[in-house]
Amino acid sequence: MDTNSVLTLGLGLTPPWRLVGQRLDTDKQPHELHLEVAAERGSLFPCPTCGKSCKAHDFAEFTWRHMNFFQHHCYITAKVPRTDCGEHGVLRINVPWARDGSRFTLLFEQAAMMLVREMPVLAAARIIEITDKRLWRIVEHYVGRAVERLDLSRVTAVGLDETAAKRGHSYVTVFIDLDRANKPVLFVTPGRGKETVARFRAFLVEHGGTPDRIAEVVCDMSGAFVAAVGETFENAAVTVDWFHVVQLFTKAVDEVRRAEAKQNKLPKALRWAVLKRADGRLTDAQATALAELEASDLFTAIAWRIKEKLRWIRQADSVQAARWRITNFQRHAAELLDPDPILDPVRKALATVQTHSKRILQRWSSSHSNARLEGLNGLFQAARARARGYRNIATFATIIYLIAAPLGDLVEST
Ligand SMILES: [Zn+2]
Repeated sequence: MDTNSVLTLGLGLTPPWRLVGQRLDTDKQPHELHLEVAAERGSLFPCPTCGKSCKAHDFAEFTWRHMNFFQHHCYITAKVPRTDCGEHGVLRINVPWARDGSRFTLLFEQAAMMLVREMPVLAAARIIEITDKRLWRIVEHYVGRAVERLDLSRVTAVGLDETAAKRGHSYVTVFIDLDRANKPVLFVTPGRGKETVARFRAFLVEHGGTPDRIAEVVCDMSGAFVAAVGETFENAAVTVDWFHVVQLFTKAVDEVRRAEAKQNKLPKALRWAVLKRADGRLTDAQATALAELEASDLFTAIAWRIKEKLRWIRQADSVQAARWRITNFQRHAAELLDPDPILDPVRKALATVQTHSKRILQRWSSSHSNARLEGLNGLFQAARARARGYRNIATFATIIYLIAAPLGDLVEST
């Protein structure tokens, strides 16, 4: 086997294409291996629209970046014909080693996609020695195509949550299939609130789903989501995730603590102690700060005691028990609450729970795990890291799909 045959095999070339020349450019750093590919003289080529064999109308030269040949960058150059089909006119043909419009070979793109499944895009771009911007274009192409193929025909229960691509702005809303333990992401869309629910409905229909079959939607307590879900999915029971109830009170406690810290000196460790999950592990300093807090008559202590009682509600083992505990919780909280406006965040949280109590109670009748939405936080964090350096709504959404949507084989042939 001569070198041409070895390289031809490596490129996956099939007739009429063959390798006709190779040259190593040692003036460039790193060195560049240039492979010249050409079709046999007089070959016929398929019209890109109908596939009919046509004579070449004319040729133009193109170059594609191919996988490195050892440490050398490798390029393929070929004169690509345009066909002159009686029906479709003069069109540039698609070459078998690259997809239409790409300046990389399919093998190069496949290798790139293998890397981005395992590591941040920026790191993958450094390994294959292209800019991250160009790699993002490849990733967005393949992920976008795989998302088009998603099948939502069996979806009956969805959860949704919002997160920021960057701190404090550029929100995306993510929809997941509550019946899928692995790779549950179905849809990622910019924004937060009502219009995202309408876009999900359209996406569901385009992908074989039936809005009337959606029996349960789990979301947070934002009024916009709840109203939109009710209007959009008429047969769905709306469940408020317990995780969001805890989050609401954690935020309220922290707001009280911050306001109070301006008036009184509070232990430093208190900040993280009140932010941690009720059953999370505390450092010694945090545990001491909490013990001091519990013994104190600070406003923060009142807010904390109310929040701590949520655990007691969650442990209820039936809807009836939970309903009774929520009522009891509201009454007990009202007794504890001081009229000082510094406790307004807690009053607001209690009012929100009152408004949504039916949807909160729904979790006791739901057959779906409430841990799913909470688990999304880890996914969002991972996606932010993978998209670092070039993070915007589009790249963030692409990475969420790549990590957590059931996309199947990303580079299967078109
Ligand atoms: Zn044609």
